[in-house]
Amino acid sequence: LTDSKKATLVVGNARNRAGDAIELVIAEGIIAAMGPGAGSETADDVPRFDAGGGLLCQPFIDGHVHLDKTLIGLPFVPHIPGDTIAARIEAEKRIRRQTSGPIQARGGGLIEQIVAYGTLALRSHVDIDTEIRLKGLEAVLSLKESHGHLVEIQTVAFPQSGVIRDPGTADLLDAAIAAGADLVGGLDPAGIDNDIEGHLDVIFGIASKHGVGLDIHLHDGGALGAFELRQIAMRARAFGLEGRVAVSHAFCLGELDDADFGRTAEALAGAGVAIMTTGPGPVPMPPVKRLSAHGISVFCGSDNIRDAWSPFGNGDMLERAGIVCDRQNFRSDADLEEAFALVTDAPAEALGLSYALQVGAKADFLILPAASIAEAVAARPMDRAVFKNGVLVARGGRLVGAGA
Ligand SMILES: [Zn+2]
Repeated sequence: LTDSKKATLVVGNARNRAGDAIELVIAEGIIAAMGPGAGSETADDVPRFDAGGGLLCQPFIDGHVHLDKTLIGLPFVPHIPGDTIAARIEAEKRIRRQTSGPIQARGGGLIEQIVAYGTLALRSHVDIDTEIRLKGLEAVLSLKESHGHLVEIQTVAFPQSGVIRDPGTADLLDAAIAAGADLVGGLDPAGIDNDIEGHLDVIFGIASKHGVGLDIHLHDGGALGAFELRQIAMRARAFGLEGRVAVSHAFCLGELDDADFGRTAEALAGAGVAIMTTGPGPVPMPPVKRLSAHGISVFCGSDNIRDAWSPFGNGDMLERAGIVCDRQNFRSDADLEEAFALVTDAPAEALGLSYALQVGAKADFLILPAASIAEAVAARPMDRAVFKNGVLVARGGRLVGAGA
């Protein structure tokens, strides 16, 4: 440590993933030193945090949320039934028109909740349609300012009501990217817009024009969904967007015959298309290990949290990893570590972020009361200490100090 970089905190009595004792020295929000006894050289007046023998690990990343949709903070809103995506879209619009709580308050409440669980970065899809236009995006972009000390936010301009089906949306998506959205979204080119080429040509055209990536919601099942995945992969290559396209849900990957799965996986891998899964309920889900074996990046997100689509969800990514384990029958330590990567390393790669724990990196990390990653996934402990830029922002599921 040089004099110009004065240590601000020493984290002692922690353990790394191998179980070895480790200390961290933090200066100016950066990990300045790391290793056994790393804190022994620092002055006595530097504050110390006793990790209590807990596990040091990187923070969680939520690869798919909807900050603009959540109803958190409002009196409980009963779920409006509706089995189809189209019915759900209409139900959401009814609720949206009657909701008085501003997006800044609801989305801010959700951020505070998920940061307390240990999530320090997220990708939020934000509805863009001809009724709400860019209002939701403007609200979520304002959360980047108000909550930037807690979380890193990436935004996707999401055509929740379709592009072809809701004329005028294409221009709004284009305006959304110009206004600061990070990626272009999409939604069921067949199931919602009934025009696979029309939908994909519009969203890839906008992404290409602005030089941004895409993250497309795809619920369409079976061979139809697989065909759409291959169409997406083909465009990712044609537009030079390899490695910058994700497809969220892609339930169809869990219900294909071997031949269809093989050619679809090959297309996705060749175009570097990543797959986001929540470990969803009573629908097929993308087979995580089979996709990984093909070189396809799979990452996790919460998706709907207490909104018009679902009364459930809490944003706890450790719980999300456990849900995926249940759905994929993951039981061994290696399996549980793979599930942990779905909420840490994999979304970091898909979102183009770095949360590596190394000297010189930003001091964003967690201390979990567990002896191993596998135990953390299995036991899902709540007594987590959450550090953002080297500052303790949450403990035991509540924001504290500078985070509160
Ligand atoms: Zn979603």
